[in-house]
Amino acid sequence: LLSTGLLSVEGLTAGYGGAVAVDGVSLTVAAGETVALLGANGAGKSTLFKAILGLVPARGGVRLDGVDITGLPTEQRVGRGLGYVPEGRRVFAGMSVRDNLEVAGLPDRRARAQDVERVFALFPDLARKSAEAAWRLSGGQQQMLSLGRALMGRPRLLLLDEPSLGLSPKLAQELFAAVAAVAAGGTAVLVAEQSASRALTIAPRALLLWLGRVVRDGPVGDFSATVLQDAFFGL
Ligand code: ATP
Repeated sequence: LLSTGLLSVEGLTAGYGGAVAVDGVSLTVAAGETVALLGANGAGKSTLFKAILGLVPARGGVRLDGVDITGLPTEQRVGRGLGYVPEGRRVFAGMSVRDNLEVAGLPDRRARAQDVERVFALFPDLARKSAEAAWRLSGGQQQMLSLGRALMGRPRLLLLDEPSLGLSPKLAQELFAAVAAVAAGGTAVLVAEQSASRALTIAPRALLLWLGRVVRDGPVGDFSATVLQDAFFGL
């Protein structure tokens, strides 16, 4: 029996008004796999994530564990194992770091407490600032909190939209190390990145999006500098 993968997307198409941003995308992510989603600004990475999550209307199919979730609202997709870290660090600014995590957690109090500790172990900075309001965190720490919030739902697949955007190289490296640690724990990851070199340090496989289409899908070794350059500069 062939595995259909943890996530299986088939002919997904989404856009805004008449403009198509994601154009018949098909892809699979296996359980525990880390995949980089590469593509220039406007290639459709964010829209693809939103279509997978049901945040924008889309045509085509999305399956999780072989189950068609295309008709489900976002909340239920998340409940079935999708975790999402949107671009731009969405945290509740006035809420403490701990509460930001708590509100994203499971209903069971003990499980939730364990999960908070797990996030704190992954990000010691957040543990130190657990009682601080989120707005007091640095940009990098807010990005960590945003990732921590997604982890609180115990996702089987994390969708990370440009997590390193706006971070210093050092913080970006720290964040990617944490993502690698999460992946090593068995969580599948689909990570959108404009910095191909960074994404490729944690993802053995990459998809290249160009004008809403997957134009390449394979092991990172197949992505020559020329191919990437062409896709990013539209040559
Ligand atoms: P970025 O790195 O800028 O987020 P991206 O690869 O994530 O790029 P998308 O944000 O998905 O790309 O954008 C794909 C296309 O859809 C672009 O042409 C963009 O201008 C358009 N687009 C994105 N969001 C909207 C919107 N809310 N309304 C109209 N057009 C949009």
